[in-house]
Amino acid sequence: MTSSDLDITDTVLAELRSASDIVQVIGDHTTLKKAGRSWKGLCPFHNERTPSFTVDRDKGLYHCFGCGAGGDVIRFVREIDRLDFPEAVEALASRFGVTIPRRQRRGPREDRRDTLYEVLAAAQRFYAQRLSRPGNAAAKYLVERGVPPDMWTTLGLGHAPDAWDSISQALSGAYPEDLLIEAGLLQPRAEGKGAYDRFRDRLLFVLKDERGRPVGFGGRALSPGGEPKYLNSPESPVFSKKRLLYGLFEAREAIRRTDRVVLVEGYFDHLALARAGVAETVASMGTALTPEQAEKLKRLCPRAVVCYDGDSAGRKATHGALQLLLAQGFEARVARLPEGEDPDDLLAREGPEALARRIDEAPDYLTWVLEDVRPDEPGIASGEKRERIARIQETLAAIPDRVLRYEEYRKLARAVSVPLEVLWGGEKANLRPEMTRSSSVGTPGNTAVLSAVEAPAVETRLLRFLTAGGDHNSLILRTLNDDFLTDPRVKRVVAVLRGAGQASEPIDFQGQIAHLTDDERTFISGIALDESPEPTEKGVDQLLKDLEKKYLDRESAEIQRAIDQAVAAAGPELDELMRRKSEISRRRADLGRPPQWKG
Ligand SMILES: [Zn+2]
Repeated sequence: MTSSDLDITDTVLAELRSASDIVQVIGDHTTLKKAGRSWKGLCPFHNERTPSFTVDRDKGLYHCFGCGAGGDVIRFVREIDRLDFPEAVEALASRFGVTIPRRQRRGPREDRRDTLYEVLAAAQRFYAQRLSRPGNAAAKYLVERGVPPDMWTTLGLGHAPDAWDSISQALSGAYPEDLLIEAGLLQPRAEGKGAYDRFRDRLLFVLKDERGRPVGFGGRALSPGGEPKYLNSPESPVFSKKRLLYGLFEAREAIRRTDRVVLVEGYFDHLALARAGVAETVASMGTALTPEQAEKLKRLCPRAVVCYDGDSAGRKATHGALQLLLAQGFEARVARLPEGEDPDDLLAREGPEALARRIDEAPDYLTWVLEDVRPDEPGIASGEKRERIARIQETLAAIPDRVLRYEEYRKLARAVSVPLEVLWGGEKANLRPEMTRSSSVGTPGNTAVLSAVEAPAVETRLLRFLTAGGDHNSLILRTLNDDFLTDPRVKRVVAVLRGAGQASEPIDFQGQIAHLTDDERTFISGIALDESPEPTEKGVDQLLKDLEKKYLDRESAEIQRAIDQAVAAAGPELDELMRRKSEISRRRADLGRPPQWKG
């Protein structure tokens, strides 16, 4: 039994959150002192001399106003001990004596998955046996490429013979054909019945899930003209390409020990680094790194070294990977590889120590980006320089934390001799540390990341009022029109509180935040733990007015745009638009004076 067999329901989580003493758990990692309603201490996630780390036992939340870390007790355990969600739940449950039920009822789908694991394990044994036969073609190939035989077994390498029916002959006695097809071992014929071996005449790398079970294969063609050169298993109920990282199961321990993860593109790059003793290496199986893979790695280790090919495709892929890593808050470095060489070439030419040194001496990502893009190259036209700087800015835009981003802009400004104000000009100059670290996966390097970070001030004030609890909640939730809200997280929290159906009672904070996602809890922790006076009736009234004003301002601006268009096109809807605009102006006047327009 492992932690992934736990049946973790919302009810169980609510019980676990209320049983776990967050002050005690965090107290193991930093000294906490009582300060008013909450506890304060030095943040265990970043270096600081004055405490900005706050824990609220009643709300079950922590938040660091320095680095933005925050969330509930489960999040804390996950981050501090680098555990995945079920592992953290299990650790807390055993510490505070909560029993988590195990999954018992198994459906046909689980049985089918189990059989898929079984058949893939059998296939792996078959392919590995073939490799160990004397005179084997794949074994010869490995020897030629200098891969020592002890690594063949450790990595579970195999050989798919040059035949149409070797795996089907080996396994079809024990398993039905449709299962072998679903496992990606057989390929159905385009016409007529039957199926044939997917992998033929290939050296095979086994793809394993996080528990070390084979879930698929990646095959390198052995004959020079073999097409495609690399072939991976298709997606299946046990194999998702965008989530899996090749080598992660074996690398896990080394990643923890060395506190870094090395990213490569292909199987042979992985082999090269393994031979250089860099065991903390994972490969994205020859394709671009995905947001899902980056997110998975982040939970394990927030420090990454990208080691892609030194050709133009590899460098382009490096820029893409950097954006994903920065969006996840990674501390990223990039290994310098000679022009046109991949890690395997470098190993062959310079030897294992030299390759390992390239990883150890990898510069921080910005240094590498500046070396690669060369915005300060002498003699380039100013338009070209502008374009190159813009490419770097695109990468920096992926950094969700505005303060960190500003720091990087400072370095960029120095490197390209352009005043910081000019570069930063495109960014809104708000230097207040963010309430949260963004975790919007899959939207690197664009404004979606930025807008996900900052909720409008008035909506933040709304959440502060709501999380303070008290008698005003029911009034707020009753009066509030959801159209007044723009931030998706604020909308979600309001919806959750509405759904709780007990808005008038003292707020059962822990029970209600159970319905939020982990990232929404981090977002809300900064607001809920920010000490501010209790909301008054007058304050609530003003808040509701302000929310509506903002909404009317947005509406008004939109109508004005439509009016401008209608005027330009002499459209017939002009009268109706003018009427709505004056209606909004009237309502706006009722609520109070409009804001002072600037410029
Ligand atoms: Zn901190």
